[in-house]
Amino acid sequence: LREHVVKTRRLEAVEQMGAAISHEIRNPLTTAMGFVQLLQEEDTYYEKRTEYLSLVKSELESAERVIQDYLTFSKPSIVSLSHIYLHDELHHVIKILHPFANQYSVEITEKLEPVSSIYGDRQKIRQCFLNLVKNAIESMPSGGQLTIESIATPLQAMVRIEDSGVGMTKHQMDRLGEPYYSTKGSKGTGLGMMVVYSIVRAMKGNIKVHSKVGKGTVFILTFPIQPESSQPQNS
Ligand code: ADP
Ligand code: MG
Repeated sequence: LREHVVKTRRLEAVEQMGAAISHEIRNPLTTAMGFVQLLQEEDTYYEKRTEYLSLVKSELESAERVIQDYLTFSKPSIVSLSHIYLHDELHHVIKILHPFANQYSVEITEKLEPVSSIYGDRQKIRQCFLNLVKNAIESMPSGGQLTIESIATPLQAMVRIEDSGVGMTKHQMDRLGEPYYSTKGSKGTGLGMMVVYSIVRAMKGNIKVHSKVGKGTVFILTFPIQPESSQPQNS
């Protein structure tokens, strides 16, 4: 019964996210559609056309950002749970974000020690790491150091993501994970951290944050391990 309750909760979290995503994507698409309709009207002046086209573009970019924060690794399949090795998933996400880190002149140090497996949804865990690492890189607009570690402890798999970026005030840290909270203006969705917290909670993990303005930020995540030898029931 307990396992069933856990799974139901996981599914609820996923369904809630699904509803939020379609809302977040529909808004910019509806706006873009409005401008496309205006463009279809024959008597629209040339200058207006250029303006409408750039508005269509920025609305589509905003939809694209929402998709990136929620759905980068989603496959059109039902949530699938399996044993996951966090060091492998971190390596995967770092590889994907290497070009992005280069754009920001961010140097990445990987200290990935093998950790015991945890049990959960691989795509979601990747999304969670992607959002954290992306934020870390974005916090270093003129370059810096990003250190990503996996650390084995007897009962937990631990992940540390440390940047030398702009850091956060106490107030900013308190608001982390609040939907739409962003300090990045039109370049932010304010959804990335909400997705991170929702995923970590669904996986019975824990997040700690330390930050200092002008010095940097460290996120420490822990997840209960679930070795492959101890198969959970009914899965
Ligand atoms: P977005 O990245 O779209 O702004 P997020 O939900 O991913 O939205 O992050 C919310 C806010 O949290 C960011 O706008 C930023 O102010 C703050 N933040 C998150 N991670 C970091 C970090 N590593 N360093 C500094 N600030 C951060
Ligand atoms: Mg973000």
